[in-house]
Formats: sequence, C-alpha cells, structure tokens
Amino acid sequence: MSLPLTAAPPASRWRLERSVFLWQLLLAGAVLLLVAIAMTMPDQLANPDLFFLGVAVVFGMTAGAGVIPWGKVNKNWTMVVPIVDIVAVAVLRVAEPSLGGSLFLVFPVLWMATFFGLTGAILGPAISLVTLIAGLFLIDDPSSSTRIIGVLVIPVVLVFISTATYLGTRKTKAQRVLLRQQADLLESAFGRARQDERTLDQVMNTVSFGVVAVNRFGRPTIVNSTYRRWLDAFGTPPSTYFPATDYGEDGVTPLAPGERPHERMLRGESFDNTIVWYGEPGEKRIALGMTSRPLTNAEGQREGAVMVSRDLTAELDAIRARDDLVASVSHELRTPLTSILGYLELVLDGESIAGADREYVDIALSNADRMLSIVSDLLLASQEEHVGFLLNFAPTDLAVLAKQSIQSLKPVADERRISLLLTSIGSPIVYADEFRVRQVIDNLLSNAVKYNHTGGRVSVAVIGDEREVEIFISDTGRGMTEEEQKNLFQRFYRAESVRNSTVHGTGLGLAISQEIIRSHEGDIRVSASSPAGTTMVITLPREQEEE
Ligand code: ATP
Ligand code: MG
Repeated sequence: MSLPLTAAPPASRWRLERSVFLWQLLLAGAVLLLVAIAMTMPDQLANPDLFFLGVAVVFGMTAGAGVIPWGKVNKNWTMVVPIVDIVAVAVLRVAEPSLGGSLFLVFPVLWMATFFGLTGAILGPAISLVTLIAGLFLIDDPSSSTRIIGVLVIPVVLVFISTATYLGTRKTKAQRVLLRQQADLLESAFGRARQDERTLDQVMNTVSFGVVAVNRFGRPTIVNSTYRRWLDAFGTPPSTYFPATDYGEDGVTPLAPGERPHERMLRGESFDNTIVWYGEPGEKRIALGMTSRPLTNAEGQREGAVMVSRDLTAELDAIRARDDLVASVSHELRTPLTSILGYLELVLDGESIAGADREYVDIALSNADRMLSIVSDLLLASQEEHVGFLLNFAPTDLAVLAKQSIQSLKPVADERRISLLLTSIGSPIVYADEFRVRQVIDNLLSNAVKYNHTGGRVSVAVIGDEREVEIFISDTGRGMTEEEQKNLFQRFYRAESVRNSTVHGTGLGLAISQEIIRSHEGDIRVSASSPAGTTMVITLPREQEEE
C-alpha cells in the first residue's frame, strides 16, 4: 500500500510564535554585543543617532516578536520582522561601518530562507543588496573602495548562505515527510497486526476444539478457552496446560513420562489423532484426539509447536455401545441357531424325509451353518480383547483354495459379467489353517467382485518362492483413496462412497482377514489402488516359526 505524498502539517501556533521570537532574539543578542562594543568607543561612532535608531528598531522588533500573536495572523506577515531587521542592520552599518554590523544580515537572511522557501531565499539577499546600496549613499565617504567591495561581497556571501539554507531546509522537509510516511506505514502495519491478533484470539476462543501453542522456549502462547475448560474440569491449575495424569487409548494405562502428548509436542514431534483420556477411570472423563505439528519461522527454523485436540468421548462411547450391541446380539443368536442346526441334523439323520425335501433341508442346514460362522465372527470382531483364532495348521495348497473360492463366487460374478482368472507360479503349498485362509481369500475375492464394475475383471495370482507364497488379487473396480486405504483394516470401516451405495457389507471382512493372516505370521496389504482398480496381496510364510 502506498500513502499519498502529504506535506508536513503546519506548525502549531505556539511553535510559530516561539520560533519568530527566538530568531529575533538571536539578532537582538548579536546587536546587544555590538552595542557593548560601541559603548567602549562612544566618540568614534560615525553617526551615534543613526546607530541608536538601528538598535532601537531591532529591540522594538524583538519586543514586537514577543508580544504579537503570530499564530493568529497570516504567516506571511511574519516576514515583515526580518525585512525590517535587514533595514535596521543596514542602518547600523551606515552609522558605523567599521563595526562590521553588516555581517548581522546573516540572521534575517537565514531566517527568511528557512521560513519562506524560495521567495524568502531570493528576497533576503535582494533586500540586503538594495539596502546596502542605498546605505552607500548615506555614508559620508561613499567612494571608499573597501566599503564598495563590502557592499558587493556581503550580498554574494548572503546569496550563498541563503541558497544553502534553502536547499538544506527543503531536504530536511522532504526527509520529515518521508519519516512521517514511514511512521504512518509502520503504525498501520502495527494496527493490522494487532487486529489480526485480536481476530485470531476471537477465533481461537470460538472454536469447539482445543488449541495449545508453545513458543520455542516451551512457554504456552495460546491455550484457547475450550481447552482451558477441559483442563478446569479436572482441577488443573491455571499455571499449567496439561493435567497431572493422562491415560492412553485403553483409558486405564497412565501415559509414561516422555510419551505424554504435551511432551511430544515440546520435542517437536508430529502426530495425528493420538487418543488420550483425561480424568480418573470410573469418574467423569474425556477422550481427546490430539494432533500436533512443530511451528517454523520464515527461515524454516523451529519456533515452537501447536497441538489441536478434538473431544472424542461421544464418538468412542458410541463405538463401544455398537460393539456391545453387536456382541450381545450375536451372542444371543448363537443359542437358537445351535438349536436349529441340531434339529436339522436330527431330521437329516432320520429316514423320514427323502427326495426334494431332503435337499431343501440340506440347503437350510448349510445356510444355518454358514450363519453360525458369520455370527461367531461378528462376536469375535466386536470383542475388544479376544483370545484370537484357534488354528489347525496343516500343509495347504493355496492354488486349490483360490480355485475353490473362485468357483463359489462364480455365480455372483457371472451375474455381473465379471471374469475370474487364476494363475499359479511356483509351489503353492504353505503350512496354514485351510478353513481360515479360505475365509481370507473369500473375503478379498468377494470385495474384488463387489466393488468392481459390471463386465470387469478379477485376476488371482498365486506366486511361491523359497520362503513364502504371495496371493495377488487384482480387480478393475472403483479403487480407493489414500485416506480410505489407511482405515481399510479397521473393524466396521466402509468407505464413504461405498456406504452411500447399494453395495452391502459390514466392514468386517478385511479386519477379520487381517487378524487371520497375522496369526499366521503373514501379511495382508494393498499393493496398489487407483480409480482403475485395486490389487491386494496376502503373504504367507511356508513354515511357521517355532514358538
Ligand atoms: P464385509 O464385512 O461384508 O466384507 P465390506 O466389504 O464393506 O463388508 P471390508 O471387506 O472390510 O468390508 O472392506 C472395507 C472397505 O474397504 C469396503 O467397504 C470398501 O469401501 C473398501 N474396499 C475393500 N476392498 C475393496 C476393493 N477391492 N475395491 C474398492 N474398495 C474396497
Ligand atoms: Mg468385504
């Protein structure tokens, strides 16, 4: 932003009056000195009357300069004082040229060049020249060469002084204007900074998340009102910005020194959504999701850190309530299901039914069986700390499992004209739990079909090397964003786009699959995913390490 060039504001009235009086006082002082010198040689004065007329005029003007309210009259009128002074000094020179009083012309000339710009700078020496020449005719001996030279030399000196003063004053004035502009700029920048700070402060205290910022010495610079309220609820004194104890994600393990979020923030660590509980277990408490980043200055040096926290209590409570519900529902379903299974087996064991009826009951039995295993998985997934799977390890042919899985999914794939392809390279035998690994391949294949486009492709490649066997399951489906890939293996997670579509699912398939593969000391991950499709990989070691 550039400010318009503004002249310095007019001097205040009082300043003007004081300045007129001071300039005049300077001359009066000099004249007083001249009078003192003249007193030592009263008889030698060429024209005592004229001398005292000149002195009287100077002193009269001094008195006038002191009493006239110059601030109230037009500023140009003040020029009268130095002009009269010039005449008075010229009179003094005429009265006694040898006293050198004409040098005192410097005072009014300086004054005029300083105060009245170019006009003053020209008028001062010009009037001096005129009065000096006029005085020449009044002097007894006008032809005296030294006096003539004086009349010529003095105005030249005065012109020089006047010009230098005028230029100097102009420069000073310009500098003053520049300084004032810079001061204005600085003031407005300060004003903006203060306003920004106020806005930031108000925003910080309006938002519903907690904000803590520290400077590079670790002293807090922001503790917003939301965060302060949370701290106050647990009796944290205002002098600190963290509670006495905080607990980890499980809500019961106190965080070890060095692991606490504010300490990690002070170390300049970056972390996202770390869950921390404030408040003692069993009492009123709050779960916070904390995110921290170091702050840097323009040079990239660390200038402190900021930590933002979100209240996750309701969210975590809701997740717990959902898990509880799923656990109790699946648990309660198991009892009647087991009973149904038992009776259906009884029916099949007997001879009472045959033909189509037996086939129908057989189908009912296999579906009830499948339902039981689904319900068991639901129960397993909803338990926070379950003991894991009971696995029956045996040599397992993964190519055969993949083939079976493809066969069972074929009807669904055919319906949507999705082709299924299997390739196998190297030995596909691993030491694993056949039932569980099949479940994993089923889950991945079902996803590859479910999230594929009509007419798409799914290819399965089983590739064995010396130590491990990898199963690649690629589809030509919708793919996943980076964010979706991060959460993929979380229980009940379903991508936003999928949730709003007609494709059904519980969001448990991958969570269960990961658990199964991990208990095989293997790995399951996204190998690649783009809007053109996804490739998932399962890695299984050939042998289980000896426990
Ligand atoms: P289910 O428990 O019935 O398997 P689901 O398929 O929704 O339900 P997961 O198999 O765990 O659950 O998958 C989780 C989410 O990951 C899916 O909802 C989907 O958004 C995404 N996803 C998984 N596989 C793929 C894939 N091959 N292509 C695109 N998105 C996928
Ligand atoms: Mg699935």
